[in-house]
Amino acid sequence: MRTVIYPGSFDPITNGHLDVIERAARLFDRVVVAVAESESKQPLFSLAQRLDLVARAVAHWPKVETDSFSGLLVDYAARRGAHVIIRGLRAVSDFEFEFQLALTNRRMNEHVETIFMMPKDTYTFLSSRIVKEVSRLGGNVSGFVPPHVESALKRRFARRMRRPRAAARSA
Ligand code: ADP
Repeated sequence: MRTVIYPGSFDPITNGHLDVIERAARLFDRVVVAVAESESKQPLFSLAQRLDLVARAVAHWPKVETDSFSGLLVDYAARRGAHVIIRGLRAVSDFEFEFQLALTNRRMNEHVETIFMMPKDTYTFLSSRIVKEVSRLGGNVSGFVPPHVESALKRRFARRMRRPRAAARSA
């Protein structure tokens, strides 16, 4: 059984991530989408919410499972019995950081290999950060994320918009 780990913040999961997951599922027996706690990145969605959004997005793929982790990725991979980590590469701008990360992980555990996968060209511009920014400004993100993620973003930003008025009332 060849298991691969696809780690990330997934804040939130996008169609670019899903494209990578689908490609990985064609090559491996099991793909574990591992949602990192990423507290230092101050994510928009809580870990539980990000996990739920990922789980619903991959529910129709039997080879794909969802999990969360904190701490060192190589330790998590070892616990899961995985020797391969997948990371997505969109453009040259991703390369430097991903290269550093892969070599650092190799230094910590030489039995874990990192493989890079490129998404479909139409998703190479897509990032969770851009999706959040477009959605925050009221733009349409329906082509970038699954419908349930779009709804979650709308709810999240609607709540943010309401907050200043509530604060004003209580002042
Ligand atoms: P992280 O915070 O670990 O970078 P992300 O959720 O932003 O987590 O991304 C997880 C992985 O998916 C990273 O390897 C990132 O380069 C990759 N990725 C993000 N967006 C895309 C995309 N549109 N196409 C392909 N890979 C992507």
